[in-house]
Amino acid sequence: MKKLLTLLLTFSLLLGMNGCTASGFSASSKQSISYFDLFDTYCSFTAYGLSEARFDEVSLGLHALLERFHQESDIYHEYEEANLATLNRLAGHESVLLNDELADFLDWCLEAYTLSQGRVNLCLGAVTRLWHEARETKSLPDQEALQDASLHCSPKLLYRGGNCFYLSDPEASVDVGALAKGYAGRLAKEYLSAQGVENYLLNLGGSLVASGRPMGSGRTDFTIGIQSPDRDEGVYADTFHLKNRCAATSGDYQRYFEIDGVRYHHIIDPQTLFPSAYQRSVTVLADDPALCDLLSTALFLMNESDGRALCERLGADVIYVK
Ligand code: AMP
Ligand code: MG
Repeated sequence: MKKLLTLLLTFSLLLGMNGCTASGFSASSKQSISYFDLFDTYCSFTAYGLSEARFDEVSLGLHALLERFHQESDIYHEYEEANLATLNRLAGHESVLLNDELADFLDWCLEAYTLSQGRVNLCLGAVTRLWHEARETKSLPDQEALQDASLHCSPKLLYRGGNCFYLSDPEASVDVGALAKGYAGRLAKEYLSAQGVENYLLNLGGSLVASGRPMGSGRTDFTIGIQSPDRDEGVYADTFHLKNRCAATSGDYQRYFEIDGVRYHHIIDPQTLFPSAYQRSVTVLADDPALCDLLSTALFLMNESDGRALCERLGADVIYVK
């Protein structure tokens, strides 16, 4: 639960999240639901102007979709269908037949590698696993182990033939933590649009999708607070407005451990094999939540002028918190 609460810090919705409206239905009715079982983080969906029955129906469908993608993209647990944990387990041994949704996601992850000029690397799993263990044990990974692991991180190790995927190196593994929540946001946005839901805010552990406006609040857009990296939960370093737009934040305060006053966070620079030292917190705003998630991680791994240039090229806006 502590982890969930920590992740909740990423964004706080200044408009509040005061549960489901009691009864009845008006054009400005607001209803919220929280999900604690997805992507190892806190997720919430707030919709406006729906009847209670319609909200229940839509939020159930939304949860089913998110749960399905959560299971497909899970690198730690296997379920009935082959998923990314299966791909990792069978690395160097067997290929795995994945469904269309997961195959498309892996295509996006490979595109993300190119768009981020190699910084966001879905095949960095051998290295990020060592940092994951380091966070658990609160001790630095062995330098030699990191160097060895880095020899098993090329995206060229991932082969595709139709929907069959194969990691050709037994030491290689995929880690899609930088991209999964944003991609889930993209799938959810498509679903909600097909369902005709117009006014809502979806928060997938800090990957936000905003549509329409918070009806009944007098506001024409959603006001979002960005957590201050060094302050208590709920203290904002900045705010921004979202209307028919998406956002994602990457920060050094989200998952980290400290040794002798030095903070080791969870975003690893593939060049140094250590947590990057460029930024404290980066928030990216764009039309596509998958792009926001990719860019917030990518910008964490480059200097500000390169980050701003990349955002301009891809039609995104950025807010840095120093
Ligand atoms: P985010 O919070 O979206 O910035 O993603 C951070 C997560 O992405 C980490 O917890 C790791 O699972 C993973 N990750 C860390 N560094 C990298 C990297 N350079 N390339 C790809 N994934 C990474
Ligand atoms: Mg990301």
